[in-house]
Amino acid sequence: MDKYPEALSELIKRFQKLPGVGKRSAERYAFHMLDMPKGDTHALSEALLTTLTKLQQCALCGALSDCSPCPLCTDSTRQTDKLCVVSHWKDIFNIERTGEWKGLYHVLGGVLSPLEGIGPESLRLLELKQRLESPQIKEVVIAIDSTLEGDTTALYLKEELQQFSVHVSRLAFGMPIGSSLEHVDGGTLAQAFSGRKSF
Ligand SMILES: [Zn+2]
Repeated sequence: MDKYPEALSELIKRFQKLPGVGKRSAERYAFHMLDMPKGDTHALSEALLTTLTKLQQCALCGALSDCSPCPLCTDSTRQTDKLCVVSHWKDIFNIERTGEWKGLYHVLGGVLSPLEGIGPESLRLLELKQRLESPQIKEVVIAIDSTLEGDTTALYLKEELQQFSVHVSRLAFGMPIGSSLEHVDGGTLAQAFSGRKSF
């Protein structure tokens, strides 16, 4: 049992909750932060708090943004007849980096996972359907990870979208089975967009 002061133990425990951070790394981070000039440590904690308080969910697409509707939804240069469905808002950044997609986005907020108790009602499906009621949207691209849950979600979406007159496609070309959008390089992702297939 480490005999750290309680506050330090707490900080270490918090760091350990980050992905890929074990006990030793967490300790290193905590020690480093305490050695940093006080101003830097304050600026870091302030940045964290500001992120938490300033970011909000865009009422239209569901992405986190400084404002709602977000700049992507209000950008008049985007193609408003195309909608790209992603599971997590962070995927938008990966896709934007490719420069391949000029349409709008819709964040589902997860993928279907019966094991984790994530059913259709936990996703932003109702919001998606509401958006598709606008005849303006002609194409929906499903950009969801090629995993078991991702595939199940994509199939479910396909069924649900049949009632709308939209062309549905899914990123496929160049996306290896079991791959996550997060780990696919920009070139592969760009290729997946231009080679998207009817679904
Ligand atoms: Zn938005």
